[in-house]
Amino acid sequence: MLGHRERSGDVLVGFTDATLDVAEEAPGRDEALNDAVTALAGAGVPAVRMRQVHGASVAVVDEVPDGGLVPDVDALVTTCADLALVVRAADCVPLVLAGEGVVAVAHAGRPGVVAGVVPAVVARMRDLGAGVVRAWVGPAVCGRCYEVPDEMRETVSAVVPEARAETSWGTPAVDVVAGVLAQLRAAGVRADDITDLGACTREDDALHSYRRDGTAAGRLAGIVVRRPERET
Ligand SMILES: [Zn+2]
Repeated sequence: MLGHRERSGDVLVGFTDATLDVAEEAPGRDEALNDAVTALAGAGVPAVRMRQVHGASVAVVDEVPDGGLVPDVDALVTTCADLALVVRAADCVPLVLAGEGVVAVAHAGRPGVVAGVVPAVVARMRDLGAGVVRAWVGPAVCGRCYEVPDEMRETVSAVVPEARAETSWGTPAVDVVAGVLAQLRAAGVRADDITDLGACTREDDALHSYRRDGTAAGRLAGIVVRRPERET
C-alpha cells in the first residue's frame, strides 16, 4: 500500500507501491487512491490529482476541482490543510515538496526536466511564502536502466548536465533523478532538505514501471497533505 510514509512537521508524505494502481484508466482508481490517502492521512481527506502532460505548468488549488482532476498540468501547489495532492508515475519522478504553510507535488520525467517543472513549482511555492523547501524524490527509473538515443541524451544534458548517464550495458542513458536533484539544488533547496528514496522502478518488482511493463503498467502515487496535529 504505502511503500514509504513519514511525517515531517505538520506534513504527511507517502508513496504507494505496486499493490495499488492509481492510473487514470485503472478500473479501481478512485478506490485505490482513497485507500492510499486514508492510509496516510485518515478518512475524509479529499484528493486532487492531475492529468499530466509532461510539461511545466503549475496549478495552485484551494478546493477539490470537478472530478478531483486538474487537467494538463504537471505540478500542484496548495496552502490548504487537509487537502491531499497526488502525483502519479511509473518511471518518471514523483516529486513531493513542502515549505512553510505550503505543499506541492510535481511529475518530472525526462521531458519535464527539460521543460523545467521543478524550478517552476519551487518558484510558485516561494511566491506563496514557502521559505525553506523540503523535497522527497520518489521511486523512478534509474540512470543505469533508462536507455535513450544518443541525441536525446544530448538534448537533456544540454539543459541539465547532471542527467547525462550510461546504462549498465554501456549505452546512452538519462538519469532523471540526478536531473531533478540538480534542479532542486539550483532552485535553492539544500541537500539536507532532500530525501531521495533511491528505489529503481524498473529493477524493483514491488513498484510500477512503464519501461518494464509497457503500456499495461500501473501507476504509483506520491501524496502530500498538510495535516496539523490537533488537540482533541
Ligand atoms: Zn535501475
